[in-house]
Amino acid sequence: MTQMDEAKKGVITEEMKAVAEAENVTPEFIRRGVATGRIAIPSNLNRDEVAPVGIGEGLRTKVNATIGTSTDIVDFEMEEEKARVAIENKADTLMELSVGGDLDEIRRRILDLSPIPVGSVPVYQAAIETIRKEGAAIYMDEDVMFKAIEKQAKDGIDFMAIHCSVNRETLRRLKRQGREGGLVSRGGAFVSAWMVENGLENPLYENFDYILEIAKEHDFVMSMANAMRAGAIADSTDRAQVQELIVLGELIDRAREAGVQTIVEGPGHIPLNEIKANVILQKKLCRGAPFYMLGPIVTDIGAGYDHIVSSIGAAASAAAGADFICYVTPAEHLALPYPDDVKEGVIATRIGAYVGDMAKGIHSGEKDLEMANARKKLNWEAQFDAAMCPAEARRIRDERPPEDPDTCTMCGEYCAVKIVNEWLDSADTRIFD
Ligand code: SF4
Repeated sequence: MTQMDEAKKGVITEEMKAVAEAENVTPEFIRRGVATGRIAIPSNLNRDEVAPVGIGEGLRTKVNATIGTSTDIVDFEMEEEKARVAIENKADTLMELSVGGDLDEIRRRILDLSPIPVGSVPVYQAAIETIRKEGAAIYMDEDVMFKAIEKQAKDGIDFMAIHCSVNRETLRRLKRQGREGGLVSRGGAFVSAWMVENGLENPLYENFDYILEIAKEHDFVMSMANAMRAGAIADSTDRAQVQELIVLGELIDRAREAGVQTIVEGPGHIPLNEIKANVILQKKLCRGAPFYMLGPIVTDIGAGYDHIVSSIGAAASAAAGADFICYVTPAEHLALPYPDDVKEGVIATRIGAYVGDMAKGIHSGEKDLEMANARKKLNWEAQFDAAMCPAEARRIRDERPPEDPDTCTMCGEYCAVKIVNEWLDSADTRIFD
């Protein structure tokens, strides 16, 4: 029985209790959210040791870190290191998106080491194994797509991006309107190339009920993939993207009916002023389903600093009501990320999500107050404790030690905080009389 089935029957599961405790809300709040599809808890029945994470309305915005090999760099140890770095830096979930090497082996190695939910994109495996055997993804057998979903579900994948909403109508609209930046979803590209070359409807759309059966058996969350997301600011919120979102909304109704949890992926490259409209549109068309923003990238020209670009997008998205953000690293658009890039990406996205959560009232800035008080007291240990990344804050300070250990090398003996603390605490209060 799935989390959603249990919730609909009024049962509060151990996972719901754990999420409620972590979020400081009542278990009933979580149960109701899961029952109505507004909260998802990715926790595959085949995994015993996954920390339950709640994604959705009224909860802290969660951060995903993607890892995985490419065809050019296949280094399983490095991917494991990237997973560890993401977990150490408090990513809430991981997505294992390898396309190079033995895909089963790397997926299982990441699942073995991860205490947090792990996601995947099964159509990658279906397409890549077909390309290795037949030379092109267009020869993909329909069964291979479903077998990849089933295999990954049995392995314990907690949430899967399924490219089920690209249908003929979506592709017709895409063709009619054209695009500046084309299609940037790798899974979307595999599926749409297959459809065009074979002249057939998307099997993942046509046989959606079969996917629901597999999802129900293993209780993984379906992450409804956004194949039409824009890869350029100029293409944001276009007809193809909106068309796909309408289809997604209809599929989500069917998933809920079947007791399968869903989240909905969203753009992509999108200017700041369109983020709120996208969140409202998604929440309306998908009846409040958790919204998983990929990035978002709010300008196309930040290459080398796209983690900062995305952090701005994450803040605006979380503030507008998005529930889950996929991080972006400094290597985005340029190369396969290294472990250091993963760290930068996770921290930047966590900062964006935290800022957005403050704006939407998920928290009232308790940590900020803690930091403000620690700064006023020049209590450096307390400042490190309150920081988003204590190790980095400590490293920078320790690297440049001040003469006076109370202060820092920025102002040294003219430390404004110290000067003001001294006169505020002074016995001579005549000026205030
Ligand atoms: S030295 Fe300047 S920057 Fe450093 S703590 Fe004092 S006021 Fe702040």
